[in-house]
Amino acid sequence: MPDQFKPETLALRTGIHRSQFNEHSEAIYLTSSFVFDNATQAAARFSGEESGNIYSRFTNPTVTALEERLAAMEGAETCVATSSGMSAILACVMGLLSAGDHIVASQSLFGATVNLFNNILKKFGVETTFVSATDVGMWEAAVKPNTKLFFLETPSNPLTEISDISELAKVAKNAGVWLAVDNCFCTPVLQKPLALGADIVIHSATKYLDGQGRVLGGAVLGNRELMMEGGVYGFLRTAGPTLSAFNAWVILKGLETLKVRMDAHSRNALQIAQWLEAHPNVNRVFYPGLPSHPQYKLANRQQSTGGGIVTFEIKGDRAAAWRVIDQTQLISITANLGDAKTTITHPASTTHGRISQEARDAAGITDGLLRIAVGLEAVEDIQADLATGLG
Ligand SMILES: *Cc1c(COP(=O)(O)O)cnc(C)c1O
Repeated sequence: MPDQFKPETLALRTGIHRSQFNEHSEAIYLTSSFVFDNATQAAARFSGEESGNIYSRFTNPTVTALEERLAAMEGAETCVATSSGMSAILACVMGLLSAGDHIVASQSLFGATVNLFNNILKKFGVETTFVSATDVGMWEAAVKPNTKLFFLETPSNPLTEISDISELAKVAKNAGVWLAVDNCFCTPVLQKPLALGADIVIHSATKYLDGQGRVLGGAVLGNRELMMEGGVYGFLRTAGPTLSAFNAWVILKGLETLKVRMDAHSRNALQIAQWLEAHPNVNRVFYPGLPSHPQYKLANRQQSTGGGIVTFEIKGDRAAAWRVIDQTQLISITANLGDAKTTITHPASTTHGRISQEARDAAGITDGLLRIAVGLEAVEDIQADLATGLG
């Protein structure tokens, strides 16, 4: 597929391998294994002499179709699909790092990622230093001789801090470490980390890539050397956090509408953010598409729109924040995001509830903070639903 095609075209026209039936919509190959013509072919497949499918823990045509499509959209050489976003991060670190290696990571990461780095990887001899998402100097200063990986998310959850991917890519290159970016909030439609110098892109396909809250999935993308046999794929095919063919198919179909959905999420989110910013009972709004965002210029340069996540701090305590949630009739009270349906959550008592009050204060996760993942309902209806509890 020519490189000049835009992501929305690539999302519809790549990864298509029609069967003998010439189906127009992608087929699903629900099979755990694949048959060989004879023993010679079986041996050739297993030795790698002949390419082709063997067993769906290794490869499956529906999963391969998704991998090709996502790789085209992110501008990556290769993609390895995984069973969830967390298993994508696990496959990335287990495939590329060894005991004794060191990670420098943003302190504004998804909660489970922090737990994975802090509690699980530490048991296997991989240490992580957490630094500010926005202070490039801190990343540089945290590099040790055994540092192998920089890991970040931008915009961050829930405060939408923006990390400067190009600047951090330069630091990473100088230090000889890989830069991995979790591109979950933006998707390749809004931001392409590899084009900005990152080495690895991570996705939780559970969020916007599916986009309708149906399945879990994940992906790791990068060059062939990092992704293949000796790296991420080598871990995946042996350890087995493989994406199911059914989930791959759901996500493939989700990708077809990613661009129109992201445009609509961003449009609705900007309107909600502007309305909240003008609301007398709101202290502060965190949204990269607002000129009041501390990194508005960087966000404008790095991502094409502000995305769908709006966080705001109300004037009041936890009870007042919970009142806004409890008064909603339309918006779903759930911590998931990237769904067509608008969702609302109170980070201090849910996604960030397990960390200490001190750590929450340091991270700016106050009791008055609410996060909405703005969906595709009419923006007036979302606004009216929030207005009830806001007073
Ligand atoms: C949800 C999420 C993950 C984890 O993805 P799962 O599919 O739930 O495993 C990782 N990173 C970010 C930014 C997320 O929002």
